[in-house]
Amino acid sequence: SSKMTKSFDVIVIGGGPAGYHAAIRAAQLGMKTACINMMLDGDDQPVLGGTCLNWGCIPSKALLDASHKFVEAQHDFADLGIKTGKVEADVPQMIARKNGVVGKLTGGVAALFEGNGVTALAGKGRLYGGCQVGFTPHGGEEEMLSAQHVILAPGSVPVDIPPAPLQDDLIVDSTGALEFTSVPKRLGVIGAGVIGLELGSVWNRLGSETILLEAMDEFLPIADNRISRDALRIFKKQGLDIRLGARVTATEIKGRGKQKTVLVTYQDKAGEQTLEFDRLIVAVGRRPYTEGLLAPDAGVNLDERGFLFVNDLCATDAPNVYAVGDVVRGPMLAHKGMEEGIMVAERIAGHKPVVNYETVPSVIYTHPEIAWVGKTEQQLKMDGESFNVGSFPYAANGRALAAGENEGMIRVIADAETDRILGVHVMGAQASELIAQAVISMEFSASAEDLGLIMFAHPTLSEGVHEAALAARGHAIHMVNRAPRAKN
Ligand code: FAD
Repeated sequence: SSKMTKSFDVIVIGGGPAGYHAAIRAAQLGMKTACINMMLDGDDQPVLGGTCLNWGCIPSKALLDASHKFVEAQHDFADLGIKTGKVEADVPQMIARKNGVVGKLTGGVAALFEGNGVTALAGKGRLYGGCQVGFTPHGGEEEMLSAQHVILAPGSVPVDIPPAPLQDDLIVDSTGALEFTSVPKRLGVIGAGVIGLELGSVWNRLGSETILLEAMDEFLPIADNRISRDALRIFKKQGLDIRLGARVTATEIKGRGKQKTVLVTYQDKAGEQTLEFDRLIVAVGRRPYTEGLLAPDAGVNLDERGFLFVNDLCATDAPNVYAVGDVVRGPMLAHKGMEEGIMVAERIAGHKPVVNYETVPSVIYTHPEIAWVGKTEQQLKMDGESFNVGSFPYAANGRALAAGENEGMIRVIADAETDRILGVHVMGAQASELIAQAVISMEFSASAEDLGLIMFAHPTLSEGVHEAALAARGHAIHMVNRAPRAKN
């Protein structure tokens, strides 16, 4: 600590999507910027991109896309008129390809840092009072840095539950579930939320008998009720055995060596049940990670749930200290953290952007995908709002049929009085892409009529968004409208 103090305009702690967006934008705006990141890859080398690039969004999508193509090759190609020989999954190659994709992207972030002049510091960061930052390189001693502004972006880690402590490669969290080297015969998943459904789908598609144990009685209560109901039916048809109201109370490792299995005890309406699995994934949520982040004099407060406390503009209680991403309130989603990081960097530079938390899109990358933005029908009912819903099925969309993607629907919810779009809910192929149209519409305060007056290319899945908007006003073209005919 006797070393000369290095000073920066901005120090970012955390190199995940929230932190690296903040660092790049700050550097673009001419500020001398450093980003401290402690994550190491499988070979113990420093790696940027955080959970998202290394153990989250990207590797899960690499395996979801690969395993979906496997299912298509097995079950759908014949109907399209494509004969295949025997189709087999090559799990080591799938995992290697996934790692290759991750490596390209994390290397890309490192190159962007270099190109923008961001100083990457590999090691642990700790905030002291007065924007002093302790930086401890891997295997080294803490040195003090000083900054005009500090942006905290330490992210989140998986929640573990006492009845199911992680155990080698038998009981794993989402990180372990991206690294299986073979297909478990019997797979258990605790939690039927977004991550449980995505990872459960990957291994179910590759051949695991998959059982998801969900403590809640309701399936996907965060999504639109109508869509959750259809999704549950579709996922069950795909072979995901989703058991609701099933609370895991204990786990036990049975056998030895390669014969080890996991016994899971859970409680449901019928009483106590026990299941035996070859692998168990614990996917019950994530919690903010703040270990060792704050010195006693840092001046940053936590909220009652352990998140760093911030206002609407991501300012903490300490002057010139901000926090962004999974470690602060709001949905734990990469794009939410990215936009917060950019907002904070630009505010430090004197610009005045805001993040619109009303239009954060959510996506579940199962097949069909589920995506939404804004309010659900059940939320609006609870708020006593009056609204119109326009629903359009994929089965009535020409392009969906041409592509063999008949399953799904698009629902546009608009205010009954003003016609302003309040929420859009999509289940079906490419829902993750279609939802962007809804986000843009809502960002510009569009009405269902506005969306209905816009021209969409034919034939596309996007036409379904157009038709659902027309349906909200009672006059979709490719559907017999049962609602009373609108006068306008
Ligand atoms: P993180 O990505 O967690 O990054 C934080 C970084 O800070 C890490 O590198 C960490 O090592 C480092 N760090 C922490 N403390 C310190 C410290 N004191 N000093 C130095 N470095 C520190 N979100 C989506 O939007 N779409 C998806 O499809 C999606 N899929 C997911 C799938 C899975 C399996 C998982 C687990 C998550 C998924 N998420 C997805 C969530 C997404 O990964 C997170 O929302 C996102 O990574 C949060 O970004 P962040 O920058 O806040 O934190």
